[in-house]
Amino acid sequence: MDNYSMFLPSYTIGPSAYEAVGEICRQYGKTAVVLGGRRAMEAAKPYLDEAEGQTIKILDYVWFGGECSYGNVNTVAANKTIAKADMIFAVGGGKATDTAKCVGELLNKPVFTFPTIASNCSCCTSVSIMYTSEGVFVEPHFFSKPPVHAFINTEIICQSPVQYMWAGMGDTYAKFYEATVSARGDKLEHFTALGVEMSGMCAKPIFEYGRRALEDNRRHVNSHELRQVVLAITVTTAMVSIFVTRDHTPDYNSGLAHAVFYALTRFPVIEEKHLHGEVVALGVLILLIADKQLDEFERVYKFNRVTGLPTSIFDVGITEEQFKSVLPGLVTLSDIRHYPYEVTVQMVEEAFLYLEEYNKSVIQAEKR
Ligand SMILES: [Zn+2]
Repeated sequence: MDNYSMFLPSYTIGPSAYEAVGEICRQYGKTAVVLGGRRAMEAAKPYLDEAEGQTIKILDYVWFGGECSYGNVNTVAANKTIAKADMIFAVGGGKATDTAKCVGELLNKPVFTFPTIASNCSCCTSVSIMYTSEGVFVEPHFFSKPPVHAFINTEIICQSPVQYMWAGMGDTYAKFYEATVSARGDKLEHFTALGVEMSGMCAKPIFEYGRRALEDNRRHVNSHELRQVVLAITVTTAMVSIFVTRDHTPDYNSGLAHAVFYALTRFPVIEEKHLHGEVVALGVLILLIADKQLDEFERVYKFNRVTGLPTSIFDVGITEEQFKSVLPGLVTLSDIRHYPYEVTVQMVEEAFLYLEEYNKSVIQAEKR
Protein backbone atom coordinates (compact mmCIF):
# COMPACT_ATOMS: atom_id res chain seq x y z
CA MET A 1 0.00 0.00 0.00
CA ASP A 2 1.51 3.36 -1.04
CA ASN A 3 -0.75 6.41 -0.83
CA TYR A 4 -4.03 6.46 0.96
CA SER A 5 -6.61 8.98 2.17
CA MET A 6 -8.81 8.81 5.24
CA PHE A 7 -12.15 10.60 5.62
CA LEU A 8 -13.44 10.57 9.16
CA PRO A 9 -16.81 11.29 10.76
CA SER A 10 -17.70 14.78 11.87
CA TYR A 11 -20.58 15.40 14.26
CA THR A 12 -22.45 17.65 16.64
CA ILE A 13 -24.10 16.10 19.69
CA GLY A 14 -26.38 17.55 22.33
CA PRO A 15 -29.96 18.55 23.12
CA SER A 16 -29.82 21.44 20.64
CA ALA A 17 -27.51 19.85 18.07
CA TYR A 18 -29.73 21.06 15.21
CA GLU A 19 -28.92 24.68 16.07
CA ALA A 20 -25.57 24.07 14.37
CA VAL A 21 -27.23 23.16 11.06
CA GLY A 22 -27.12 26.64 9.50
CA GLU A 23 -23.51 27.30 10.35
CA ILE A 24 -22.28 23.89 9.20
CA CYS A 25 -24.42 23.38 6.08
CA ARG A 26 -24.39 26.90 4.58
CA GLN A 27 -21.22 26.32 2.55
CA TYR A 28 -23.00 23.47 0.72
CA GLY A 29 -25.95 25.53 -0.52
CA LYS A 30 -29.28 26.99 0.51
CA THR A 31 -31.82 24.18 0.10
CA ALA A 32 -32.29 20.70 1.51
CA VAL A 33 -34.72 17.82 1.22
CA VAL A 34 -35.38 15.70 4.28
CA LEU A 35 -35.32 12.00 3.47
CA GLY A 36 -36.29 9.67 6.28
CA GLY A 37 -38.55 7.33 8.14
CA ARG A 38 -42.09 8.51 8.80
CA ARG A 39 -41.95 8.42 12.60
CA ALA A 40 -38.40 9.74 12.58
CA MET A 41 -39.34 12.75 10.45
CA GLU A 42 -42.28 13.44 12.74
CA ALA A 43 -39.97 13.40 15.77
CA ALA A 44 -37.34 15.57 14.09
CA LYS A 45 -39.60 18.10 12.35
CA PRO A 46 -40.19 20.48 15.29
CA TYR A 47 -36.44 20.70 15.85
CA LEU A 48 -35.71 21.08 12.14
CA ASP A 49 -38.37 23.80 11.85
CA GLU A 50 -36.59 25.67 14.60
CA ALA A 51 -33.22 25.18 12.96
CA GLU A 52 -34.48 26.11 9.51
CA GLY A 53 -34.01 29.78 9.08
CA GLN A 54 -32.21 32.36 7.09
CA THR A 55 -29.52 29.95 5.92
CA ILE A 56 -31.18 26.66 4.85
CA LYS A 57 -34.64 26.14 3.38
CA ILE A 58 -36.21 22.70 3.59
CA LEU A 59 -38.02 22.04 0.30
CA ASP A 60 -39.86 18.88 1.30
CA TYR A 61 -40.06 15.85 3.59
CA VAL A 62 -39.81 12.60 1.60
CA TRP A 63 -40.36 9.08 2.95
CA PHE A 64 -37.27 6.95 2.21
CA GLY A 65 -39.27 3.99 0.89
CA GLY A 66 -38.97 1.52 3.77
CA GLU A 67 -36.04 -0.61 2.58
CA CYS A 68 -32.40 0.08 1.75
CA SER A 69 -32.30 -1.75 -1.58
CA TYR A 70 -30.62 -0.75 -4.85
CA GLY A 71 -34.04 -0.65 -6.53
CA ASN A 72 -35.46 1.67 -3.91
CA VAL A 73 -32.39 3.92 -4.08
CA ASN A 74 -33.05 4.41 -7.83
CA THR A 75 -36.73 5.16 -7.19
CA VAL A 76 -35.93 7.75 -4.51
CA ALA A 77 -33.18 9.30 -6.63
CA ALA A 78 -35.76 9.99 -9.38
CA ASN A 79 -37.66 12.32 -7.02
CA LYS A 80 -37.72 15.78 -8.66
CA THR A 81 -37.50 17.80 -5.44
CA ILE A 82 -34.46 15.85 -4.28
CA ALA A 83 -32.84 16.51 -7.65
CA LYS A 84 -33.45 20.24 -7.13
CA ALA A 85 -32.13 20.43 -3.55
CA ASP A 86 -28.54 21.35 -2.75
CA MET A 87 -28.24 18.72 -0.02
CA ILE A 88 -29.95 15.76 1.59
CA PHE A 89 -30.90 15.63 5.27
CA ALA A 90 -31.17 11.95 6.26
CA VAL A 91 -33.44 11.47 9.25
CA GLY A 92 -34.04 8.17 11.06
CA GLY A 93 -32.43 4.89 12.03
CA GLY A 94 -30.06 2.75 9.98
CA LYS A 95 -32.08 1.96 6.88
CA ALA A 96 -33.21 5.54 6.21
CA THR A 97 -29.72 7.00 6.58
CA ASP A 98 -28.20 4.12 4.60
CA THR A 99 -30.65 4.79 1.76
CA ALA A 100 -29.97 8.53 1.85
CA LYS A 101 -26.21 7.94 1.66
CA CYS A 102 -26.70 5.88 -1.52
CA VAL A 103 -29.02 8.50 -3.03
CA GLY A 104 -26.47 11.21 -2.23
CA GLU A 105 -23.75 9.24 -3.97
CA LEU A 106 -25.92 8.62 -7.03
CA LEU A 107 -26.96 12.30 -7.34
CA ASN A 108 -23.62 13.65 -6.19
CA LYS A 109 -25.18 15.62 -3.35
CA PRO A 110 -23.83 16.15 0.18
CA VAL A 111 -25.62 14.10 2.84
CA PHE A 112 -26.11 15.24 6.44
CA THR A 113 -27.50 12.78 8.95
CA PHE A 114 -29.93 13.24 11.85
CA PRO A 115 -30.18 9.96 13.79
CA THR A 116 -33.41 9.72 15.80
CA ILE A 117 -32.53 6.44 17.55
CA ALA A 118 -29.18 5.11 18.78
CA SER A 119 -29.04 1.56 17.49
CA ASN A 120 -26.12 1.63 15.02
CA CYS A 121 -23.43 3.81 13.47
CA SER A 122 -25.05 4.44 10.08
CA CYS A 123 -25.13 8.23 10.67
CA CYS A 124 -21.34 8.47 10.79
CA THR A 125 -19.98 5.59 8.80
CA SER A 126 -19.01 5.22 5.13
CA VAL A 127 -20.96 2.08 4.37
CA SER A 128 -24.61 1.22 3.72
CA ILE A 129 -26.02 -2.23 4.38
CA MET A 130 -27.96 -3.27 1.28
CA TYR A 131 -31.02 -5.55 1.32
CA THR A 132 -33.37 -6.91 -1.32
CA SER A 133 -36.80 -5.28 -1.53
CA GLU A 134 -37.99 -8.18 0.67
CA GLY A 135 -35.46 -7.28 3.35
CA VAL A 136 -32.92 -10.07 2.79
CA PHE A 137 -29.30 -9.01 3.37
CA VAL A 138 -27.35 -8.47 0.11
CA GLU A 139 -23.99 -6.79 0.81
CA PRO A 140 -22.27 -3.82 2.39
CA HIS A 141 -21.93 -0.92 -0.06
CA PHE A 142 -18.84 1.16 0.69
CA PHE A 143 -18.38 4.90 0.03
CA SER A 144 -15.13 6.83 -0.12
CA LYS A 145 -16.34 9.21 2.63
CA PRO A 146 -18.81 9.20 5.50
CA PRO A 147 -21.74 11.68 5.53
CA VAL A 148 -20.55 15.29 5.69
CA HIS A 149 -21.79 15.80 9.25
CA ALA A 150 -24.07 14.08 11.76
CA PHE A 151 -26.40 16.09 13.98
CA ILE A 152 -27.08 13.90 16.99
CA ASN A 153 -29.97 15.36 18.96
CA THR A 154 -29.94 13.60 22.33
CA GLU A 155 -33.31 15.12 23.26
CA ILE A 156 -34.94 13.18 20.39
CA ILE A 157 -32.93 10.02 21.12
CA CYS A 158 -33.82 9.95 24.83
CA GLN A 159 -37.51 10.03 23.80
CA SER A 160 -37.12 7.04 21.44
CA PRO A 161 -38.16 3.46 22.28
CA VAL A 162 -35.58 1.91 24.60
CA GLN A 163 -35.12 -1.39 22.72
CA TYR A 164 -33.02 0.30 20.01
CA MET A 165 -30.33 1.51 22.38
CA TRP A 166 -30.58 -1.76 24.31
CA ALA A 167 -29.80 -3.86 21.22
CA GLY A 168 -27.36 -1.24 19.89
CA MET A 169 -25.22 -1.71 22.97
CA GLY A 170 -24.70 -5.39 22.15
CA ASP A 171 -23.67 -4.64 18.58
CA THR A 172 -21.31 -1.95 19.87
CA TYR A 173 -19.36 -3.86 22.54
CA ALA A 174 -19.11 -6.72 20.01
CA LYS A 175 -16.89 -4.46 17.91
CA PHE A 176 -14.20 -4.48 20.61
CA TYR A 177 -14.08 -8.25 20.99
CA GLU A 178 -14.38 -8.98 17.28
CA ALA A 179 -11.75 -6.45 16.17
CA THR A 180 -9.22 -7.41 18.84
CA VAL A 181 -9.58 -11.14 18.26
CA SER A 182 -9.60 -10.88 14.42
CA ALA A 183 -6.47 -8.70 14.40
CA ARG A 184 -4.55 -10.68 17.01
CA GLY A 185 -1.01 -11.51 15.95
CA ASP A 186 -1.16 -9.46 12.73
CA LYS A 187 1.26 -6.73 11.69
CA LEU A 188 -1.12 -3.79 11.34
CA GLU A 189 -1.10 -0.67 9.15
CA HIS A 190 -1.46 2.62 11.08
CA PHE A 191 -5.19 3.06 10.44
CA THR A 192 -6.02 -0.53 11.33
CA ALA A 193 -3.98 -0.31 14.52
CA LEU A 194 -5.85 2.90 15.41
CA GLY A 195 -9.18 1.23 14.77
CA VAL A 196 -8.36 -1.80 16.88
CA GLU A 197 -7.07 0.38 19.76
CA MET A 198 -10.10 2.63 19.54
CA SER A 199 -12.46 -0.34 19.67
CA GLY A 200 -11.87 -0.44 23.44
CA MET A 201 -14.09 2.66 23.54
CA CYS A 202 -16.89 0.61 22.01
CA ALA A 203 -16.97 -1.50 25.17
CA LYS A 204 -15.79 0.65 28.10
CA PRO A 205 -18.59 3.26 28.16
CA ILE A 206 -21.23 0.58 27.56
CA PHE A 207 -20.20 -1.39 30.65
CA GLU A 208 -19.69 1.77 32.68
CA TYR A 209 -22.82 3.69 31.72
CA GLY A 210 -25.05 1.25 29.84
CA ARG A 211 -27.34 0.28 32.66
CA ARG A 212 -27.96 3.85 33.73
CA ALA A 213 -28.34 5.00 30.11
CA LEU A 214 -31.10 2.45 29.56
CA GLU A 215 -32.92 3.67 32.67
CA ASP A 216 -32.58 7.24 31.48
CA ASN A 217 -33.81 6.35 28.00
CA ARG A 218 -36.81 4.67 29.63
CA ARG A 219 -37.53 7.78 31.71
CA HIS A 220 -36.64 10.12 28.80
CA VAL A 221 -33.79 11.76 30.69
CA ASN A 222 -31.07 13.32 28.58
CA SER A 223 -28.16 12.48 30.89
CA HIS A 224 -24.38 12.35 30.75
CA GLU A 225 -24.55 8.53 30.84
CA LEU A 226 -27.02 8.39 27.96
CA ARG A 227 -24.79 10.67 25.89
CA GLN A 228 -21.71 8.48 26.48
CA VAL A 229 -23.59 5.41 25.29
CA VAL A 230 -25.08 7.22 22.28
CA LEU A 231 -21.57 8.36 21.30
CA ALA A 232 -20.18 4.84 21.61
CA ILE A 233 -22.96 3.40 19.45
CA THR A 234 -23.01 6.08 16.76
CA VAL A 235 -19.60 7.77 16.60
CA THR A 236 -16.95 5.44 18.07
CA THR A 237 -18.25 2.38 16.27
CA ALA A 238 -18.31 4.29 12.97
CA MET A 239 -14.71 5.43 13.42
CA VAL A 240 -13.56 1.91 14.24
CA SER A 241 -15.47 0.55 11.27
CA ILE A 242 -13.91 3.10 8.91
CA PHE A 243 -10.40 2.43 10.22
CA VAL A 244 -10.58 -1.35 10.22
CA THR A 245 -12.31 -1.71 6.83
CA ARG A 246 -10.09 0.81 4.99
CA ASP A 247 -8.18 -1.94 3.26
CA HIS A 248 -11.13 -4.38 3.00
CA THR A 249 -8.70 -7.28 3.40
CA PRO A 250 -8.45 -8.80 5.86
CA ASP A 251 -11.75 -7.98 7.51
CA TYR A 252 -11.35 -7.04 11.16
CA ASN A 253 -14.84 -5.59 11.32
CA SER A 254 -16.60 -8.80 12.19
CA GLY A 255 -16.04 -12.07 13.98
CA LEU A 256 -17.62 -15.03 15.68
CA ALA A 257 -20.39 -13.01 17.37
CA HIS A 258 -21.72 -11.87 13.98
CA ALA A 259 -21.24 -15.33 12.51
CA VAL A 260 -23.57 -16.65 15.23
CA PHE A 261 -26.13 -13.99 14.29
CA TYR A 262 -25.96 -14.64 10.53
CA ALA A 263 -26.13 -18.40 10.99
CA LEU A 264 -29.23 -18.07 13.17
CA THR A 265 -31.06 -15.79 10.69
CA ARG A 266 -32.04 -19.03 8.96
CA PHE A 267 -34.79 -19.25 11.59
CA PRO A 268 -37.58 -16.70 11.05
CA VAL A 269 -37.95 -16.12 14.81
CA ILE A 270 -34.68 -14.15 14.76
CA GLU A 271 -35.92 -11.58 12.25
CA GLU A 272 -39.49 -11.56 13.54
CA LYS A 273 -38.95 -11.31 17.29
CA HIS A 274 -35.39 -10.18 17.93
CA LEU A 275 -33.07 -7.31 17.07
CA HIS A 276 -29.68 -7.64 15.37
CA GLY A 277 -27.62 -6.32 18.30
CA GLU A 278 -29.57 -8.45 20.75
CA VAL A 279 -28.54 -11.67 18.98
CA VAL A 280 -24.99 -10.38 18.47
CA ALA A 281 -24.79 -9.84 22.26
CA LEU A 282 -25.42 -13.56 22.66
CA GLY A 283 -22.80 -14.26 19.99
CA VAL A 284 -20.22 -12.31 22.01
CA LEU A 285 -20.66 -14.75 24.90
CA ILE A 286 -19.94 -17.67 22.56
CA LEU A 287 -16.96 -15.79 21.08
CA LEU A 288 -15.44 -15.14 24.50
CA ILE A 289 -15.80 -18.73 25.70
CA ALA A 290 -14.38 -20.09 22.42
CA ASP A 291 -11.49 -17.63 22.78
CA LYS A 292 -10.96 -18.72 26.42
CA GLN A 293 -11.39 -15.16 27.71
CA LEU A 294 -13.37 -16.39 30.69
CA ASP A 295 -12.98 -13.26 32.85
CA GLU A 296 -14.30 -11.10 30.03
CA PHE A 297 -17.04 -13.64 29.45
CA GLU A 298 -18.20 -13.28 33.06
CA ARG A 299 -18.15 -9.51 32.77
CA VAL A 300 -20.28 -9.48 29.62
CA TYR A 301 -22.52 -12.21 30.98
CA LYS A 302 -23.24 -10.12 34.10
CA PHE A 303 -23.95 -7.08 31.96
CA ASN A 304 -26.34 -9.02 29.73
CA ARG A 305 -28.04 -10.46 32.79
CA VAL A 306 -28.74 -7.08 34.44
CA THR A 307 -29.79 -5.36 31.23
CA GLY A 308 -31.96 -8.19 29.92
CA LEU A 309 -29.74 -8.94 26.93
CA PRO A 310 -29.67 -12.69 26.10
CA THR A 311 -27.57 -15.11 28.17
CA SER A 312 -28.84 -18.32 26.52
CA ILE A 313 -29.89 -19.39 23.02
CA PHE A 314 -33.36 -20.00 24.47
CA ASP A 315 -33.62 -16.24 25.12
CA VAL A 316 -33.66 -15.69 21.35
CA GLY A 317 -36.14 -18.51 20.70
CA ILE A 318 -33.63 -21.10 19.43
CA THR A 319 -33.53 -24.76 20.50
CA GLU A 320 -30.42 -26.85 21.08
CA GLU A 321 -31.08 -28.92 17.91
CA GLN A 322 -31.55 -25.77 15.84
CA PHE A 323 -28.32 -24.28 17.19
CA LYS A 324 -26.33 -27.43 16.48
CA SER A 325 -27.81 -27.72 12.98
CA VAL A 326 -26.36 -24.35 11.85
CA LEU A 327 -22.82 -25.02 13.08
CA PRO A 328 -21.38 -26.65 9.91
CA GLY A 329 -22.53 -23.59 7.93
CA LEU A 330 -21.54 -21.13 10.65
CA VAL A 331 -17.86 -22.09 10.61
CA THR A 332 -17.65 -21.33 6.86
CA LEU A 333 -19.02 -17.76 7.12
CA SER A 334 -16.87 -14.87 5.90
CA ASP A 335 -17.07 -13.17 9.33
CA ILE A 336 -14.55 -15.68 10.68
CA ARG A 337 -12.53 -16.22 7.52
CA HIS A 338 -9.72 -14.12 8.99
CA TYR A 339 -9.22 -15.38 12.53
CA PRO A 340 -6.16 -16.17 14.66
CA TYR A 341 -7.14 -19.87 14.64
CA GLU A 342 -9.53 -22.15 12.83
CA VAL A 343 -13.02 -21.99 14.30
CA THR A 344 -14.38 -25.53 14.33
CA VAL A 345 -17.85 -26.99 14.84
CA GLN A 346 -16.62 -28.69 17.99
CA MET A 347 -15.24 -25.43 19.38
CA VAL A 348 -18.52 -23.55 18.95
CA GLU A 349 -20.54 -26.47 20.27
CA GLU A 350 -18.39 -26.70 23.39
CA ALA A 351 -18.68 -22.94 23.92
CA PHE A 352 -22.44 -23.23 23.60
CA LEU A 353 -22.60 -26.09 26.15
CA TYR A 354 -20.39 -24.15 28.55
CA LEU A 355 -22.65 -21.10 28.23
CA GLU A 356 -25.85 -23.04 28.86
CA GLU A 357 -24.37 -24.82 31.90
CA TYR A 358 -23.06 -21.56 33.30
CA ASN A 359 -26.37 -19.84 32.71
CA LYS A 360 -28.30 -22.64 34.41
CA SER A 361 -26.07 -22.51 37.50
CA VAL A 362 -26.43 -18.71 37.75
CA ILE A 363 -30.21 -18.85 37.48
CA GLN A 364 -30.36 -21.62 40.09
CA ALA A 365 -28.14 -19.64 42.46
CA GLU A 366 -30.34 -16.56 41.96
CA LYS A 367 -33.43 -18.55 42.96
CA ARG A 368 -31.87 -19.71 46.17
ZN1 LIG B 1 -23.70 -5.77 13.74
